Amino acid sequence: MQTVTVLGATGSIGCNTLDVINRHPEKYRVFAISGHSQLELLMEQAQKCAPRYVVIADDANYKLACELASQYGVDAEILAGAKALEEVSSAPEVDAVMAAIVGAAGLLPTLAAVKAGKRVLLANKEALVMSGALFIEAANHSGAQILPIDSEHNAIFQCLPHDYEYGNFTASGIRKILLTGSGGPFRERPLDSFSSIAIDEACTHPNWSMGRKITIDSATMMNKGLEFIEACWLFGASASDIEVVIHPQSIIHSMVQYIDGSVIAQMGNPDMRTPIAYGLAHPERIEAGVTPLDFSDISNFSFQTPCFERYPNLKLAIDACNEGQCATTRVNASNEVAVEAFLAGKIQFCDIAKVNEATLNAMPYVSVNSIAQILEQDSLARAKANEIIRGKFQC
Ligand code: NDP
Ligand code: MG
Repeated sequence: MQTVTVLGATGSIGCNTLDVINRHPEKYRVFAISGHSQLELLMEQAQKCAPRYVVIADDANYKLACELASQYGVDAEILAGAKALEEVSSAPEVDAVMAAIVGAAGLLPTLAAVKAGKRVLLANKEALVMSGALFIEAANHSGAQILPIDSEHNAIFQCLPHDYEYGNFTASGIRKILLTGSGGPFRERPLDSFSSIAIDEACTHPNWSMGRKITIDSATMMNKGLEFIEACWLFGASASDIEVVIHPQSIIHSMVQYIDGSVIAQMGNPDMRTPIAYGLAHPERIEAGVTPLDFSDISNFSFQTPCFERYPNLKLAIDACNEGQCATTRVNASNEVAVEAFLAGKIQFCDIAKVNEATLNAMPYVSVNSIAQILEQDSLARAKANEIIRGKFQC
């Protein structure tokens, strides 16, 4: 029996995680679930999975959460705030933590799980994008096992040899990692019509059902850029070891190319319950409720190279990856602000990349060696991005 904390339980990954867990009550027990704004859904989840703790991110909602808990007949203890998220991630009773809070808000609780040596099911890519070196160092120190939940990284993990030595491509005969992405909803849209992209269009992914932030990032391919950085840290790769390939059908979730000419791909229907089940059960396999892939249904299987003119955010993220930790933290922070501004109708879709570029250009590179410095760069980049939006781009 594994005891699991689900951070970001009310989100898309969180709901899918509870779905997989519910299929295997004999294997998994939920220790804590967390949510932010969807308190009623959080209480409904607590009714079903009977956790010891229910954590809400914002202290200000504590009273409301307690009232809802009694209304819903939830027995769990209600906790609130950033420290509580860290506590339920690092408690001695916990075996595994699903890190599925969106954005930089997930950094500290995810790191708490890493430092406590947990099995960390990593969906929150932003944590690694921001703190890569410190994150990996902490995992090495504590013995935490990091299992990638991002479908591409989970695929790569599955395609690597079982005895893969971190960063040593030569020893395993690996030529490169092929990181696939669908190209999002605007892969074929004429570039001169990008200024009229509506919020709803950008929030509709052709293959995956996900939270709003990552869906916009998929449309700009910033998501692939963040994943590029994530792959470097997870597998000890350098930027030249990774090639981004557009695969619009999202059936291949990524591949590893070997020096003998072999390419190993992981495939499946686009359903996050597959990597979630893999992370929960590794090294075993469990039923995940996913419709099996039927090749007679696939009429088209295609690939193309991404064009940076269409996806400037992808280039910004790859450049940041080459530059280092300070740049990756800033590009992530700026992008969170820009995506929020787009979703609030303040800027246009193509302004997202422009805001990110202007933010990065406005800030000279500094080296960051601690979480405090990373958080400082995160907040400076947010402030700069907001200033740029107010000054230049607001619709
Ligand atoms: P959602 O937006 O659906 O869910 C985000 C979760 O985080 C919700 O539980 C939300 O609570 C909570 N949350 C939001 N803001 C805060 C905050 N400030 N403090 C604490 N908790 C907060 O996102 P997804 O599930 O789509 O994504 C989660 C993570 O997984 C992201 O990092 C994403 O990049 C990654 N990922 C997601 C994939 C997917 O298929 N969805 C695929 C691969 C990676 P509430 O809803 O109650 O406000
Ligand atoms: Mg992904």
